[in-house]
Formats: sequence, C-alpha cells, structure tokens
Amino acid sequence: MEQSLTSKFPIEFIKELQNHFGEKIAEKTLKALSDTSSVSIRINPLKPIEGFSTDTPIPWSKNGHLLKDRPFFSLDPHFHAGCYYVQDSSSMILETLLNKLKPERDGLYLDACAAPGGKSTVLLDYLNNEGFLLSNEVDGKRNSILREIILKWGRLNVGVTSLPTRKFIDLNCAFDLILVDAPCSGEGMFRKDKFALTQWSEKLVQNCAITQKTILNELTPTLKQGGILIYSTCTMNREENEYQIQKLIESGDFEIKEVDLSDYQEHLIEAKIGEKTIGHYLLPGTSTGEGLFISVLRKKTPSENEDYSTKRIQTSFNPPNEGFENLYPQIPKDLVYWELKEELFAVKNHSFIEHLAIPLKMAGLPFYQMKGKNVIPLHGMAMANLGLTSIELDKENSLQYLRKETISLPQNSPKGWALVGFQNKSLGWIKIIDQRSNNYYPSWLRLRN
Ligand code: SAM
Repeated sequence: MEQSLTSKFPIEFIKELQNHFGEKIAEKTLKALSDTSSVSIRINPLKPIEGFSTDTPIPWSKNGHLLKDRPFFSLDPHFHAGCYYVQDSSSMILETLLNKLKPERDGLYLDACAAPGGKSTVLLDYLNNEGFLLSNEVDGKRNSILREIILKWGRLNVGVTSLPTRKFIDLNCAFDLILVDAPCSGEGMFRKDKFALTQWSEKLVQNCAITQKTILNELTPTLKQGGILIYSTCTMNREENEYQIQKLIESGDFEIKEVDLSDYQEHLIEAKIGEKTIGHYLLPGTSTGEGLFISVLRKKTPSENEDYSTKRIQTSFNPPNEGFENLYPQIPKDLVYWELKEELFAVKNHSFIEHLAIPLKMAGLPFYQMKGKNVIPLHGMAMANLGLTSIELDKENSLQYLRKETISLPQNSPKGWALVGFQNKSLGWIKIIDQRSNNYYPSWLRLRN
C-alpha cells in the first residue's frame, strides 16, 4: 500500500480495515477517505421541487440526488421551507430497506439516537402520515437541531423526546420498529469530519462498543415480538458492528431479517458472521457516500410491555378552544391539540401515545398561540403544507423575509394573516396592516447571512 496513504491514518485502524475487508477494498477505502466527500440531498415528498432533477439520482432512494457541486444551501429559500434535507447518500439506504421490509405503517416507531434528524425524515416519509414516530435525542443541544429539522419536514405524526435509552421501558409502551443509529467511533466519516480522525483510538472503539451494547440492551425489552430492530453506525470495524449483532443473536431474542439488496450489490459489501450475511456496508470508494453499516433484525421474544396495543385508546379530544380551526378550514379535523408554554401543537395519530406519560419536548407541530382573544398562527402550520394559500415572493424578497427584514408586498394585498412562499412552497407567516406587514418568521430560525 502507498506510504502516502498509510501515513494519513492510524496503523491499528488500517490493520482492522485490511483484516476485515481484505487488502484491495481497504486500499480503495483509504484512497476514497483521502479524497473529498460527495454532496447529496433527499427531497421531501410532502414538498416536491424540481430544481435538482438534472443531478445524478441515487439508485436506492427515490428522492435522493447526488449534486455536482455544493450549493450555498442557506441562500436557497426551499432549504428553509423544508423541501429537502442535505443527507449523505449512504444513509438513504434506509429508504430501500423500509420499502423492501414493509413493516406495518400503523405502528409506533422509535428513532432512539435521532439528531440531527436525517433518518427520522426517512422514517416519517415511509410512515406517510400513518402510525407515530418518537424521535429521541438525549443530548440537549442536538435535540434542538432535531426539533428544527422535524418542524421543517412538516409531518404531524411525530413526537420528540430527550431521554436516555434506559428510560424507555418505563413509558409502558412497546415499539413496532426501533432504529438505533448508534453513537460510534466515526471511521466512515474520516474525510468529512477531521475531528473524528483526530479522536480515533482503539480505546475509543472499545468504549463505543460498550455504549452501543448498553443502548441495545436497554431498548430490547421495549420492542414487540415480531418487531423490527434496525442497527446502524457510521463506522467500519467489527467490534461496533458484526460483534454487536452477534451478541443480539446469541441473546436468543433476535434473528436476522434478510433483505434482498441485490439490485444495489455493486455499491454494497456484505457483512458476515461466518458464512451468514448479517447486514451491509456502504464504504467510501465502493459507494458514493461516507461509511455506513446497517443490519436488520426481528425480535423473537415478547416485550415486557407487550399488551400495550390493547391498552391504546381512541382519542376523543376536542381542541381547547373549539371552533378556531374555522379560521383555516383546510386544516384536517382529525388532529389533537396539545399545549406547551401557551402554544398549541397539532398532533396526528395521537392515540398511540395519548395514555402514556411521555416527557415530550414536542408533539406534532406548533399551530396556534392564544393571546387574549386573539389567535396567532404558528410556524408549524406553515410548514405542515396544508395547501393554505400564500403570497408569492421572489428570491430576494424571500431571503429578506427569512432574515426577518421588511419585505415588499404586491399592491392591494388584503389585510390580516397571510402565508408567504417561494415558488409555491410556504416560508412562514406575516400580518398585513395597511401597506406594510409584520414578519412572524420565528426569531430562532432567522437567516443570519
Ligand atoms: N440518526 C441521526 C441522523 O440520521 O441524523 C444520527 C445519529 S448520531 C450517529 C448518534 C446520536 O446518538 C448522536 O446524536 C448522539 O448525541 C446520540 N448519543 C450519544 N450517546 C448516546 C447514548 N448513550 N444513548 C443514546 N444516544 C446517544
């Protein structure tokens, strides 16, 4: 192997890569890790846009595109409208796995390590307004990034929590699907995240493996019999991947759920225990994106909370201020309103969690704020893509709006609340008073460049 390559990476890392995948793939991977990363996006099917259709499609993601260059995303109003998410192409394999596995959509899903939120958006697209997703991120700062992504993605059948994994068993529910996209040593990210490379050590790998085992052990009792566990990492060593899966199988609780990914075999490397395929790798150099390991298992044994489904109750909640949806007749009637700090959040399929004492950071999206007798529409309603009509802004005006600056309005715009949008995609609310308007774009999301 070229010395220019070996000098860039820790020798123990190179050795494991060679032992694991063989000389040829190890060399290809190291070469790619010395190169630059690709840029890819996944379009939100709730808010389809055309602009990226000329870029290279990603075979395993219907809405994924590999871009030629990295645009200045923050100067694209559609980025702020939640029309797409900048996501590594490897992570998009989750879309194909779900479409092949076809887990029941009418179920309770958990994304246990969710921030910044890319894989939660894939799960929400798969659910397509059915079922309910709990998107969890234990780290406080990262949890607020997760909430921003969920807010912009615009789905209402989702709750955000910030719990350590040991707490899930106390929620008295059982999940139909759990995704553990585990914290890891990040070897697959070495070219994108130079910090990961400087932090790497064999000790880190061992510590990550301990954390991963703990997370899996704590979550196992909360998965229903027959439920699906998807385990993934962005690292490439056996300690954090194959050996974790091996322990799950040896526990007697799980079996491998095989998924036919032969259509994509030129981009994938099978992960094996002995002769048995237990998952797949997408590696830099072999595939377009960063390194990713992913494996799917089926739970054979019951959850401690197995009878959760029978405890579920159909909700018969009324909005606390009945009748105010009449302001916006397009708003679906089957939503439940949940109050947090004087804001009303609209939630879909609330019956999945209604009877549970879940410390939610957010459930559904913020729709209204009551100020005395006045009702103020909130950003979640703008992001939920309910077909509310909007005032079209050009790009310059859109960016001014996103910066919370004054915008110019079409002449004779009617007074009152209005949504503003760019190329038919809602950006947020304004209130028109005579010929000027107040900008209600949330301050915490304000564009700063
Ligand atoms: N799934 C995310 C996505 O697709 O955008 C990426 C998740 S990242 C690989 C792993 C996450 O696990 C991090 O956000 C990290 O804060 C969180 N984490 C770290 N330690 C954890 C622990 N002990 N239990 C649960 N989550 C943890």
